[in-house]
Amino acid sequence: MRYVSTRGRAPALAFDEVLLAGLAADGGLYVPERWPRLGEAEIADLAGLPYAEAAARVMRPFVGEAIEAGAFARMVADAYAGFDHEAVAPLSELAPDLWLLELFHGPTLAFKDIALQLVGRLFDHVLARRGTRVTVVGATSGDTGSAAIEALKDRANVTVCILHPKGRVSEIQRRQMTTVTAANVHNVAIEGTFDDCQALLKGLFADPALRQRLGLAAVNSINWARVMAQTVYYVTAAVALGAPERAVAFAVPTGNFGDVFAGWVARRMGLPIARLVIATNANDILARAVATGEYRVGAVTPTLSPSMDIQVASNFERLLYDLVGADGVRAAMAALGREGGFTLAEAQRAALAEVFEAEAVDDAATLATIAEVHRASGTVVDPHSAVGIAAARRRRGDRRVPMVALATAHPAKFGDAVGRAIGHPPALPPRLAALAEMPERYRVLPNDLAAVHSFLLEVVGEAGRGAA
Ligand SMILES: *Cc1c(COP(=O)(O)O)cnc(C)c1O
Repeated sequence: MRYVSTRGRAPALAFDEVLLAGLAADGGLYVPERWPRLGEAEIADLAGLPYAEAAARVMRPFVGEAIEAGAFARMVADAYAGFDHEAVAPLSELAPDLWLLELFHGPTLAFKDIALQLVGRLFDHVLARRGTRVTVVGATSGDTGSAAIEALKDRANVTVCILHPKGRVSEIQRRQMTTVTAANVHNVAIEGTFDDCQALLKGLFADPALRQRLGLAAVNSINWARVMAQTVYYVTAAVALGAPERAVAFAVPTGNFGDVFAGWVARRMGLPIARLVIATNANDILARAVATGEYRVGAVTPTLSPSMDIQVASNFERLLYDLVGADGVRAAMAALGREGGFTLAEAQRAALAEVFEAEAVDDAATLATIAEVHRASGTVVDPHSAVGIAAARRRRGDRRVPMVALATAHPAKFGDAVGRAIGHPPALPPRLAALAEMPERYRVLPNDLAAVHSFLLEVVGEAGRGAA
């Protein structure tokens, strides 16, 4: 399997190269040059398999010759062995034929663990084979930092350094990062805002000498392997609900479009997905794009579902490539840079709307949904999951098609909002309760590039020189 850039002007690469490359050299995102097919018999054969076995089968064609099959299957098994639920991504029924797909049973209690736990292992494997190491640097406003740290801690060939804005992430979020004591993990609290952290990150990556010296890398949401790992639970959920004979619909809390794009990939592979409902909060650029064809960037509005407070949905470029090809993507991205938006031709908008529907759910509706679900079923859901459930209910459609709403975070991670909705804070699961007792380790640094620069040299010096 080879991968090509959505902008058509970068060399085609194999899976292991795409894994480490992140963005393509022409600024595009890597996509498989063709979609592998899962035949009906292959889909049917997945029924009843443990999650990790189904996962290895679904992902196998994307990996191709780049990683040996046995080693890949072992990494997949290892990635999901630490999840709190045996099924990894279990389904629970909220109402007749309205299902919740629980994606928050990983080590940081959010769905990003499902992809990152595997990506961390894949990184380490490929780096070991090449005899190199990398320094993964990231900035977080809360959630993604801990998922990256949990995925990369104790990996032999990776040093990880995560910047967070001092005093501006919740105590639980900070402790999820700073109580990890693995020697290759470094947390830095920046005396500034999240935007300052992102600007520092940009500054680090903009320095070619430093990039080379540290082997700087990122594991952000445009990494193809993350999308690949997310296609699996669409397949396992659909199979559990009757695929390949029966079609299924999904409602997906959406920010960067990575998760719902994975649903599109599963459909392209032959899974009978009738519809994909894009559920957004007040940051509704995607809902507007599906309704009108206008993809236009606005200002980010803070909401109760902060992991979806995004205006530019990076992975949308992958869908665009499927709809309009590389020339169309280049034109659209040029317009996005120049004018802050682009317009899809009506035929393309219609092609999009054949599969995708979209709903924007505001904070009031989010809180009302958390309260209603709790009243009706006793289930407590987090605000991101509630956005998905609200959208699923609005777009219920054909009742013979089961609707699956993706639950992307554990309610205890967003206890304040959940408490407002149901009148008391949600119970803390053992993983989170234990954090309060554990010692923290982090460095406080000023909002100053030179300070972060020398900190990195210091910690990477301890681990051995990076060579990209
Ligand atoms: C990242 C995230 C999302 C959005 O996923 P995308 O792939 O960016 O669309 C939704 N919910 C939670 C809890 C998240 O952490």
